[in-house]
Parts: sequence; C-alpha cells; structure tokens
Amino acid sequence: MATNITFTIIKPDAIAKGHTGKIIDQIIQAGFTVKAAKLTYLDARTAGGFYDIHRARPFFNDLVSFMTSGPCMPMVLEKENAVADFRILIGATNPKDAAVGTIRNLYADSIDANAIHGSDSDENAAREASYFFSAVEIF
Ligand code: GDP
Repeated sequence: MATNITFTIIKPDAIAKGHTGKIIDQIIQAGFTVKAAKLTYLDARTAGGFYDIHRARPFFNDLVSFMTSGPCMPMVLEKENAVADFRILIGATNPKDAAVGTIRNLYADSIDANAIHGSDSDENAAREASYFFSAVEIF
C-alpha cells in the first residue's frame, strides 16, 4: 500500500458524544481524503486483535471494554505524508498533553477515552486498514 495512506478509528466516546461530524470535517479540512469508512461495533475478539500489541499491558482489558462499549468508525485516509500529519492532527495519546486545537485536545477526556486512533507507521497503517477493509473497499 502507498505511504500516503493512514488508518484511523473514531472511538466510541467521540461517537457517543456526537462529535463524529465535527471530527470528520476537521480531518477533511486538514487535507485528508476519506478512502473508506464504516460505522461498526467491535466485539472483544476484534478489538483485542486490533490492539494485540498491548495484550500484556495492564490497561488491555479496559481498552477492549472501552472499544466495545459502543459503535466506532474505522476509516482509511489519504494525504501526502499521511501518517505523520495525522498524528499531529490528533495530538498526544493523553489529551492532557495534546496540543491546543488537536482532535484529542478538543474532544477527548482521558487517556483511556481519547476520541480517536491514528496509525504510527506506514507499515501499521497498511496492516490496520486491511484488518477492517478489503482492498476493493479502499478505492
Ligand atoms: P496511540 O497510538 O496514541 O493511540 O497510543 P498507544 O498505541 O500507546 O495506545 C493505544 C491506546 O491504548 C491509546 O490510544 C489509549 O486508548 C489506550 N491507552 C494507552 N495508554 C493507556 C493507559 O495508560 N491507560 C489506559 N486505560 N488506556 C491507555
């Protein structure tokens, strides 16, 4: 997959609070094109598989509970330098540390309910996109 792709999930807290439209608009205004999107519910197995790298961490069970607490929206995004630019747009993992105006600064409440996911490398963007979408769905 090209390196101008990143993957995001608008997390259940942001959807539940009605921030979905504002977040998508902020993403588009920042120059990203939405290549694929769906509203979906994750079961524990799917959420656990997605965050498999964190399985041994003390917060893993809380993370899976949170990600299965309501609908979320996985999306594939395209833009030059997508991975790095999107990490800047969403801000630090802990919203207390997120720069003013970033998505987590605006819409996240805590490190566990932090509104949005963004891939941290081109390799992970490709892996994560294919976890939720088939190649034909990314057009
Ligand atoms: P990200 O790449 O910025 O999303 O951060 P990480 O890959 O380090 O962590 C993945 C997700 O796990 C974060 O977005 C948080 O939702 C959650 N998380 C990370 N650290 C903690 C923590 O200390 N406590 C809890 N409850 N959740 C955490």
